Amino acid sequence: MSGSGRGAGGAAGGAAPRPVIGLEIHCQMTSLKSKLFCPCRADYRGMAPNENVCPVCMGMPGTLPRLNAEAVRRGTMIAMALGCAIPERISFFRKNYFYPDLPKNFQITQLDMYGDTSIGGRGSVLVGGRTVGIRRVQLEEDPGRMIYEGASVQNRISLVDYNRAGTPLVEIVTEPDFEGPRQLRLFLQMLSDMVGNLGVCNPALEGAMRADANVSLEGGNRVEIKNISSFHDLEKAVVFEIARQEAQHSRGLEVAQETRHWDAARKITAPSRLKEEEKGYRYLLEADIPWVRIDAETVESLKSRMPESVSEKRERFVSRHMIPPQVADVLSSDKMYSDLFDAARTDKNARELANIITTDLMGLAMASSAAAAAPAAARDDVGGDAQKKKHDDPASDVIRVDGLRELADAVASGQMARNSAKQALHEMAKTGKSFAEVSSEMDLGLISDESELLGVVRSVISEEPQAAKQAYSNPNTVNYLVGKVMQKTRGKADPQVTLELLKRCLLGD
Ligand SMILES: [Zn+2]
Repeated sequence: MSGSGRGAGGAAGGAAPRPVIGLEIHCQMTSLKSKLFCPCRADYRGMAPNENVCPVCMGMPGTLPRLNAEAVRRGTMIAMALGCAIPERISFFRKNYFYPDLPKNFQITQLDMYGDTSIGGRGSVLVGGRTVGIRRVQLEEDPGRMIYEGASVQNRISLVDYNRAGTPLVEIVTEPDFEGPRQLRLFLQMLSDMVGNLGVCNPALEGAMRADANVSLEGGNRVEIKNISSFHDLEKAVVFEIARQEAQHSRGLEVAQETRHWDAARKITAPSRLKEEEKGYRYLLEADIPWVRIDAETVESLKSRMPESVSEKRERFVSRHMIPPQVADVLSSDKMYSDLFDAARTDKNARELANIITTDLMGLAMASSAAAAAPAAARDDVGGDAQKKKHDDPASDVIRVDGLRELADAVASGQMARNSAKQALHEMAKTGKSFAEVSSEMDLGLISDESELLGVVRSVISEEPQAAKQAYSNPNTVNYLVGKVMQKTRGKADPQVTLELLKRCLLGD
């Protein structure tokens, strides 16, 4: 142990210094057509190994990279959304290191060095009432993937799939401004909503967003936890790492500067390779890619392309469409569902539509994707959060805008009971039938006929004599009786008519 280590841990037993946490988030630009420097597909998912490659992304001698202009535009939009300074000129660098999934032996990335800059300079965002600084936003290429097979470590074979090599990434580097795991979670959720809303990245895809966390105790050495693709795991890793460093500190030990990885099975961080120092990467200006000028005209045209932000959308849902704030939170944070809402909404159905989407439709999608994800989670190295998988579900593909609009209209106009909407939605998703077919087949209509309901109301009153007595003085008891009528009619009784009938019967007794 070094002398400075003893010094740092001199306050053994005392309160540990505060944690310092920063993030580097890699976000795949999943909506682009081609890779960052060649015409191969950006969407490599579902392809046979090494099918999506060409001489450029395989790093063959004599090939030249050609920059994807749309990647620069969309990366700039992310930088703008994060309040970053947009430079007039950007350039690329070679980051030299050897790894089997990096066929060129260097990665093309960006830096702020020698007066050259990445696509986004300093910026900041407000998260949970606190400002988080953004150090820079940069464009870079993703490496390929290593796949390990075999029953044991001794028999293990390593396979390389280059389909992902060269696909476009945006890396967002934050200042070490996070005060704890909760703020980390809020930031990642905000960022995930933001890139989804910009249409740059579909964060629900496996591995589309991955993060490295830098964790230290103030004044101590920094530990980097690499490549976590589940936000849930990231939070757990940071919590573990802070506790580990605090334990070291309390024993008077120096925390080693190192790279660790999150072992999800053992729920601990464990040391990986020794931390490469930045100078070990021998950064060189990538002379094969000329400087790219971002002129004022480009900036203006990108500003006009920026969609309504998640917070603006939320505000509109609440103030213009009268949606309760909690429902608006859920709806605005998901581009696919909020687009669906905007497409199917009318002045009259907005509230019911928002309810149907955020409870019934999202619930349906989650339930079936959880079932579908179960076998996949066992074989893949990176299991996404269950919540992220809702997009993979076919339910929302089957239920078209028209069907949703008709369903919400029927509930809003009182033709269908609220409770029946869920059942109708399930049937539409399962069979692919239209709303009209499902509603006529399933007898989902609202019972508002007085003579039909009167019998039920009377039997409830006779079965609940105590409640019926109390109902004179206690309005809550009336609601209880309405609930009993609902139970007997499987949610189909018109609540308004039921209430009227109950009042009439009770007073008339
Ligand atoms: Zn290629």
